[in-house]
Amino acid sequence: MRSVYLFWSSRQSAMISLIGLLFGLGMVFILGYQVSSSYRAEVDRARNDVDIQGQVLAGQLSSALRESDLILHDLEQRLNVGDLARADLGENRNQIVQHILAEKLALISQADNIGLVNAEAAITHRAVADTDGGLLDRDYFTLMRDNPHKERLYSRLITDSKTGARGIVVARRVESGEKGFAGLIVASLPSKHFERLLGQLTLGAHGRVMLLDNQMGVIASYTPHAASAALKPDSTIVRQLAAGSGEGKSAVLVQSRADQATREISYRHVEGTPFVLLVSKSSDDYLASWREATLYYLLGGGLLLTMALLMSYFFWRSHRLARTLAQKESKLNASEARFRQMIETTPVALVLARRPDFFITYVNQRAADLFDMPQAAALSMRAFELYLNRLDFMDQMEQLQGGKTIRAVEMRLQRQNGEPFWGTLSLSEVSTSESSTVVLGIVDITERKQMEVELKRRATTDSLSGLANRAHFMESANQELARAERYRRPLSLLMVDIDHFKRINDTFGHDVGDKAIRALSDICRGILRDVDLLARLGGEEFAALLPETARDHAVSVAERLRIAIEANVIITDDGQEVRFTSSIGVTQLRDGDTLVDDLLKRADNALYYSKHHGRNKVSVAEELPQ
Ligand code: GH3
Ligand code: MG
Ligand code: MG
Repeated sequence: MRSVYLFWSSRQSAMISLIGLLFGLGMVFILGYQVSSSYRAEVDRARNDVDIQGQVLAGQLSSALRESDLILHDLEQRLNVGDLARADLGENRNQIVQHILAEKLALISQADNIGLVNAEAAITHRAVADTDGGLLDRDYFTLMRDNPHKERLYSRLITDSKTGARGIVVARRVESGEKGFAGLIVASLPSKHFERLLGQLTLGAHGRVMLLDNQMGVIASYTPHAASAALKPDSTIVRQLAAGSGEGKSAVLVQSRADQATREISYRHVEGTPFVLLVSKSSDDYLASWREATLYYLLGGGLLLTMALLMSYFFWRSHRLARTLAQKESKLNASEARFRQMIETTPVALVLARRPDFFITYVNQRAADLFDMPQAAALSMRAFELYLNRLDFMDQMEQLQGGKTIRAVEMRLQRQNGEPFWGTLSLSEVSTSESSTVVLGIVDITERKQMEVELKRRATTDSLSGLANRAHFMESANQELARAERYRRPLSLLMVDIDHFKRINDTFGHDVGDKAIRALSDICRGILRDVDLLARLGGEEFAALLPETARDHAVSVAERLRIAIEANVIITDDGQEVRFTSSIGVTQLRDGDTLVDDLLKRADNALYYSKHHGRNKVSVAEELPQ
């Protein structure tokens, strides 16, 4: 997950997150627009539909009624006014009238009843279709009788007293020249006929179609769904349209929420009649497919929106993660820079080398200076090349691997040009799962070492002569003695003392005395071997220990010394020549000697013997007379 996030940078992640959000919002907008525009289209289509169907049906109704009227008019032409007055016109005339009525009734296909009514409202003649129509009543009779201007009137017949049937009456007023009102010619059109017509419309399961008169009476109505019967027509619209005063309009389209659903309703005046046709569709039908589509839109849109928001969220998180990482990285860089600066300026020379090949991976400036090489050059070297003896290095690496850290060991190291020097080394190892690094901290102790050597030299050397002092002589001589005894090797000791030294001091001064001491030292150094231990024991008294030297040889060395001293001349500052001689005592290692003191005593005895037997003489302890 994390690595996927980091495939994009912080800025890219933020951009993608924003794009995701905008995409989501865009989707919502487009879907909303789509849903609302398709809603409007569905509503418009339903409205159009009820309008057109209403128009067609109203036309059909209108022409059917006009046709009925024309037939009644035609009937009037065929009859005499007198035919209306009496029920019994004589058998012949009765048959003729009855025949004409039956003929016309057959022509008015929707009528079930046609008849003649006289001025006293009595039905004189009548033809009845298959069903027993009974739709003639007095209401419209008086209305037509008392309104000479109304040629005909369509109205509803509420209930036939016998059958309970409903319908429309089409009537013509008949006038006789001198008497005026003579009666009516009437046809009744039952509601069931209109209901059949109304039922032909396609308005959906919840559609409703009604034919109303100007008194809100329902002539015919049709609905496939019982719930839609609850629809209440708007009486104001119906009355206005029926009276032809609907602001000059013959049709009105309205939307209503009469019942549970919204309805598109078309009210239309049936031309030439006082009737209004109502055609309505329910949103339960015309929005059904829209609702289904909307549901899918919403589901799909919701899914897309969720995806877009999720994408946004993930990339936003990625953005934050990347930003946090960048901050951490810069902190890390800063801390690394500080750390680098720290190790660059530390007074300790630092070298990092990797295992297992020990190639140097880093040296600080101090280390580069110490080993006298550029920092970059160190990177092609291996750590053991810094050691004078690479076995020391390998030994230390083994110790480190054993889990030890190495603290402040003194080690001989070498600069790049091969010059050796002393350093104090501390080593540790830093291991991760991937690599292992050896850290070497080095402090240059060359000066300290030199100081130590100097101090040691000073502690063991006599400053005037430059020879070993008494203490150092005793220590070294004892070691030499032990060695000679162990390996049963010969060892001899010489003691040398300047004769009448006091006189030199007294005669020429202390400085000349010192000069004589130095001269004797030089002579001894010249004649003795490097392996011989030579020391000034004190005053003008000297000792020389000669390893691997038997007595005879020691005596000859002593003799050469004596002769060289005797031959030596020192010149004083004022140009005087000073000569001096020396007395020498010789002895050799004997069984039972444990310390150099044993030899010193014997040599001193021999020296004493030389002093007392004329000085400028070599005496051997082993040869002294008892
Ligand atoms: P002898 O022949 O018996 O040895 O006589 P000597 O005069 O040499 O007697 P001794 O060895 O006893 O004398 C040592 C003298 O050396 C005493 C002291 O003044 C002198 N002396 C000791 N150390 C020094 C020194 O460092 N410099 C000088 N100039 N004289 C020293
Ligand atoms: Mg002396
Ligand atoms: Mg002396």
